[in-house]
Amino acid sequence: MVRIDPSSKLNGKFDKPGELESILSSQRNDFNHDPYPDWTARRSKIEKLRDSVFASEDAFIKAISEDFGHRAVEETMIAEFLVLKGGFSHALKHTPKWMKTRRVSTALPYWPAKNTIVPQPLGVVGIISPWNYPLQLAVMPLIGALGAGNRAMLKPSEYTPKFSALLKNVISHHFSDEEIYVATGGVDVASAFSELPFDHLVFTGSTRVGRKVAQAAAKNLTPVTLELGGKSPVIIDKSAKLDLVIPRLVNAKLLNAGQTCVAPDYVLMPQNDIEAFSRAVLKQAEKMYPRFAGNDDFTSIIADSHYARLQDLLEDAENKGAKITVAGNDNKQQLAKERRVPLTIVTNTTPEMKIMQEEIFGPLLPIVASETLKESLQYVQAQERPLALYWFGEDSEKKDKVLKTSHSGGVCINEAAWHVVQDDLPFGGVGPSGMGAYHGEYGFESFSHLKGVFHQSRFSQGKTLHPPYTVKTHKMMSLMRKIL
Ligand code: NAD
Repeated sequence: MVRIDPSSKLNGKFDKPGELESILSSQRNDFNHDPYPDWTARRSKIEKLRDSVFASEDAFIKAISEDFGHRAVEETMIAEFLVLKGGFSHALKHTPKWMKTRRVSTALPYWPAKNTIVPQPLGVVGIISPWNYPLQLAVMPLIGALGAGNRAMLKPSEYTPKFSALLKNVISHHFSDEEIYVATGGVDVASAFSELPFDHLVFTGSTRVGRKVAQAAAKNLTPVTLELGGKSPVIIDKSAKLDLVIPRLVNAKLLNAGQTCVAPDYVLMPQNDIEAFSRAVLKQAEKMYPRFAGNDDFTSIIADSHYARLQDLLEDAENKGAKITVAGNDNKQQLAKERRVPLTIVTNTTPEMKIMQEEIFGPLLPIVASETLKESLQYVQAQERPLALYWFGEDSEKKDKVLKTSHSGGVCINEAAWHVVQDDLPFGGVGPSGMGAYHGEYGFESFSHLKGVFHQSRFSQGKTLHPPYTVKTHKMMSLMRKIL
């Protein structure tokens, strides 16, 4: 596999919005010549993708870090490469089984006919991905699309230009434009991309832009998988073991400096416990990051606009009466210069504060007083349905209540964020946090057409239901009505 140098020039140029249509046409023509690639062909593409991405691991680590200002090397290794390694291995192991024609049962009156489901490639899948885990969120849907036998076009985020250029170079070096194409450019390119008549479109990003993408896709009746965001709550029960809760919670909150779609957004817990809990959370953060400025383990906020947005959330909360406590003792100017935000606890919150209304997407952690599970569930129910919900506790009755009565894309019990890397679980949101799901078999099914096929037998009873209708027709109908 060829190792691509990140400093090598962008292969080609930024895409022009109007040029994408011809790429889609050539991908579709090519697909029509080979509409059902066999497993050998699919495996070879998945393996080539895996090998080409991993051959450029160092280059990706460097490019992503440069785009962020600084991204901890280990975070890229864990949250991009380790996660992808699981996705590749899972797909290579299981796709042959998922591809198989499935025999399903046939209701008695239609015997001896049989029914099958044939999973069929859809054609060309479009993938729009965000900046926060730029490699994982571009490549994971791509694995599903290739496993399902499709061609694919990608549009990574304009916030990570070095990464996007490198991805384009790596892909175009190993794949023809008819197999996989990476479009680069700004929002104009992304917007034109979302208007293309793909056979399926996967969008990962904000709920705000997701709405626009869904509207653009609806014009073509292109089916969409929307992987969006939201405010993922944490409910801490009295029965929870705090020595387990705190490191797991702080780790999930500070990974990628909180710029994670499934990061814990806010905590619900009894008022009397908040102060001791806040102290323990801050202490844990300081243990994991003895300093935030200049610490290679801690990631910067992606851009000045996002840094200013986080400062604005804090200022707004403080002006409306919140208490703000910051971990560590770093020099504020140094932090600002490096766009780093230490873990910041926000208490005495009210629903009027912006921090309680918008997805935070940074290392700010509001804690909301809630005395009972009932109260916490009512609070969550009154908000938009989130991407994830985290419950910490040992009381199994309460756990069941949480699982059965709350809505969220996914859940972790006594953990946060790790449900995302379970390749056997569907990953997706519900309502404003998304629609559809992917990862593993769920991605294969989202990017396939599950074609239902009825195989009639020579000995069908069906002709008794044909005209001219007679007494026999009525006898057959009443028999069938008894059986069905
Ligand atoms: P974003 O919505 O601003 O951008 C996402 C992508 O959409 C980018 O590639 C961008 O180029 C493109 N885009 C921008 N305007 C567009 C338009 N008008 N039409 C079509 N495409 C357009 O999101 P972001 O800031 O890159 O990412 C952060 C958001 O993504 C957060 O809300 C986060 O929760 C969410 N997210 C969700 C998941 C998930 O798997 N559910 C994963 C990561 C991030």
